[in-house]
Amino acid sequence: MGRKWSRALFLRWSVRDMPELELFESEQQRRQAIQEIEIESNNPFNAGVWIALVIGIVTVAAVRWVAKRVVPLLDLPPGIDTAVHILIILVTIVVVLRALNRWGTARELRAKLLEVGVPVCMYCGYCLRGLAPGARGCPECGRTIDERAATLLEQSDVEPTGR
Ligand SMILES: [Zn+2]
Repeated sequence: MGRKWSRALFLRWSVRDMPELELFESEQQRRQAIQEIEIESNNPFNAGVWIALVIGIVTVAAVRWVAKRVVPLLDLPPGIDTAVHILIILVTIVVVLRALNRWGTARELRAKLLEVGVPVCMYCGYCLRGLAPGARGCPECGRTIDERAATLLEQSDVEPTGR
């Protein structure tokens, strides 16, 4: 129970200032999207979780390998060198986990935005609202607009704009 709770807290801290969160139309939509992503991230059959795990283990192993060779060169007093070594690894774990969380969550948040009707670029998160229907590329990153986003743009053109 405690582990699940701390994971949820970590996820929230990781995604706190992501620009995608600002694009939701209401606080309720935003909360629901985060909740759904948390539930999905607890699913062991979610491929992203395994990819993240492998990337995390490899990165930490690489940093450990480097730290083992670099820390002795610093000529630190005994005890301090061990502390520095542990600190380097802990910081790496936090930074890598946070980056992976953000990377995975960004894509999931964009998918949720499309679900609730906000046209957004799946690659860079740019809000495509106001773009002419039929536009092919994202004005921000130039990549092809997701089919779901293209459909939303077409719909927004048909719907009355409230004038
Ligand atoms: Zn883009």
